[in-house]
Amino acid sequence: MPRTLVTGGAGFLGSHLCEYFLNKGHEVICMDNLITGSKDNISGLKSENFHFVEHNVSEFINLEGELDFILHFASPASPIDYLELPIQTLKVGALGTHNALGLAKAKKATFLLASTSEVYGDPLVHPQPEEYWGNVNPIGPRGVYDEAKRFAEAITMAYHRTHAVNTKIVRIFNTYGPRMRVNDGRAIPNFLKQALTGKDLTIYGEGSQTRSFCFVSDLIEGIYRLLNSDQNEPINIGNPNEMSIKEMAEKILQATGSKSKIAHVPLPEDDPKIRQPDITRARKYLNWEPAVSLDEGLQSTLKYFKEQLRT
Ligand code: UDP
Repeated sequence: MPRTLVTGGAGFLGSHLCEYFLNKGHEVICMDNLITGSKDNISGLKSENFHFVEHNVSEFINLEGELDFILHFASPASPIDYLELPIQTLKVGALGTHNALGLAKAKKATFLLASTSEVYGDPLVHPQPEEYWGNVNPIGPRGVYDEAKRFAEAITMAYHRTHAVNTKIVRIFNTYGPRMRVNDGRAIPNFLKQALTGKDLTIYGEGSQTRSFCFVSDLIEGIYRLLNSDQNEPINIGNPNEMSIKEMAEKILQATGSKSKIAHVPLPEDDPKIRQPDITRARKYLNWEPAVSLDEGLQSTLKYFKEQLRT
């Protein structure tokens, strides 16, 4: 039975990965310090092959026994979280990734880094292919996340080249779905919560900035394919269906049937103006593309938010 460690396993994406790999017949160790993750996300995983370890991976990771795979997903990921936890975000991207790579080397495990479209910053190339080096402000408020992930990519490639660790890098674009926290702070959870509780939907700026939203099950499938591929270079995984944030707010008003209004509030500093993944590589090397429509994905997420808010 393959043995797999998921760092950040109690988070939104981490918990979906734990569930997916358990269902694939792996023994799964979920490691999390619960600063943004929650045990509620893994409470349904009752198998004897599932283990939870509370640990901050920015500290040395001690783990007995063999390991086949390490999926390194520990990090604050919502802009409001990494603005509140700037040092922890830098540490987990740098020290946490170093520790997880050291463990992969010691155990001869395949290592997969959760990277991000934020490595492209406020992009000057559109859509963003993996060859694009990005446009990041290192000292701006988002720099703590963007630069931590850029460092994480650099040290991952260094362990691959220097120590021959089998490494993979997924650049994750905006993803949504059940188990995002009601107070996550990102656009879809904010709009859903606001629509369901009769509050104004807070659009930052004019709402003309664009994002391309991928449903979580599509993302997880792409990650699984990448892990089992021979690709060591970064691969974008995301849904190229790009829309403005204003359009997304309207979509959520429609999906919820809410009578909430739209309120414009100031745009955060360095907020990327456009974002769309170029998924040519994922199509070519992983034979992957998203399958879940925005309507289906939003319905499933809405159901989860209603349960959470008990409306
Ligand atoms: N956004 C918004 N209202 C909100 C939350 C986010 O208008 O209540 C905007 C935000 O400024 C950004 C986009 O939605 O342009 C996506 O933000 P999110 O925090 O989801 O993730 P990002 O892609 O910026 O990391």
